[in-house]
Amino acid sequence: MKMQAAVLTEFNTPFQIETVELSPPQAGEVMIKMAASGVCHSDWHVVEGLSYFPLPIICGHEGAGIVESVGEGVTSVEPGDHVTLSFRANCDGCFYCQRGKPNLCEVYTPVLRSGLMKDGTSRIAWRDEPVHIMTGLGCFAEYVVIPEDAVVPVRRDVPLEVAALVGCAVSTGVGAAIYTADVRPGESVAVYGAGGVGLNIIMGAALCGADPIIAIDTNSSKMEIAREFGATHTLYSDESTIGQIQTLTQGRGADHVFESVGLQVLQEAGLEATRPGGTLTLVGLTPFGSGTNLPGAVITRTEKVVRGSFYGSVHPRRDFPMFLDMYSNGKLMLDELVTRRYRLNEINEAYANMLTGEVARGVIVF
Ligand SMILES: [Zn+2]
Ligand SMILES: [Zn+2]
Repeated sequence: MKMQAAVLTEFNTPFQIETVELSPPQAGEVMIKMAASGVCHSDWHVVEGLSYFPLPIICGHEGAGIVESVGEGVTSVEPGDHVTLSFRANCDGCFYCQRGKPNLCEVYTPVLRSGLMKDGTSRIAWRDEPVHIMTGLGCFAEYVVIPEDAVVPVRRDVPLEVAALVGCAVSTGVGAAIYTADVRPGESVAVYGAGGVGLNIIMGAALCGADPIIAIDTNSSKMEIAREFGATHTLYSDESTIGQIQTLTQGRGADHVFESVGLQVLQEAGLEATRPGGTLTLVGLTPFGSGTNLPGAVITRTEKVVRGSFYGSVHPRRDFPMFLDMYSNGKLMLDELVTRRYRLNEINEAYANMLTGEVARGVIVF
């Protein structure tokens, strides 16, 4: 069948809205009619050629929609089900899946990096060439055909644009606070970056009972929304930031510091803002090939912990429904996260706005 999709054909060029050919789902695959796809910075790394994906590619890795059809052997969903897409499909059987780390699934990691399906082929063609999909999804398109292992059924009474955000920003942010860092009541938290992911870290830290929760950003328009999401203090990011964090934490630095932007300079500042024995959690994705200059001499002598958090250490099948229950019960503010909606053909405008930092989360609605 034919559908519209935003295709990236060359790095550092705009997305092109193209008509592409989509094949039906094969065994173990699901076709989903997309309802909403979030506008996330990780897609931009692909545009800039800083990820590993081959071209042409359809980006988009934070989506929700309604199951259209299923391939042979699919048992967990049926047509009409509302679903959130996981950008880390997981097999449930490998070394990591069996050890509670489905975000590191070793069966799917190479598949997702290839931009193709498990069998090495694509379900999408453009001008008779195979089109790749980002992280096994490619949800900047009217439909996706993806592995059942990436599809999580969710309750039908929540808006699908909210269900979409659970697929990246919410899991990455809230999960980083409650699972990866395991923030405890009364612990101090500082969060670098109050964008889509940063606001969710703040919200997760608030759920954990952290105090104070210090939000740091260079965009003063983010300060008010950071407070709505649970920040007790907001700091404009400049050379005085670390001193101010220390002042707010009895001169020690924060128990937990989170870097949500993916900037080396903030990773390094974050370590300095962490108290001795405290934990710096790196959440923002830096481009492949980029380094960081965290001082080993300091880490050793202060017992500071530096750890990565990928997809908030979540279990999609367990946590996506839980996050949406929490939203329904008023524990997670997700309506407030969606600050702007776009049509698919406005996707380049959506990314221009994301880069200026003027929106918490833009969402493409279909
Ligand atoms: Zn994302
Ligand atoms: Zn696995």
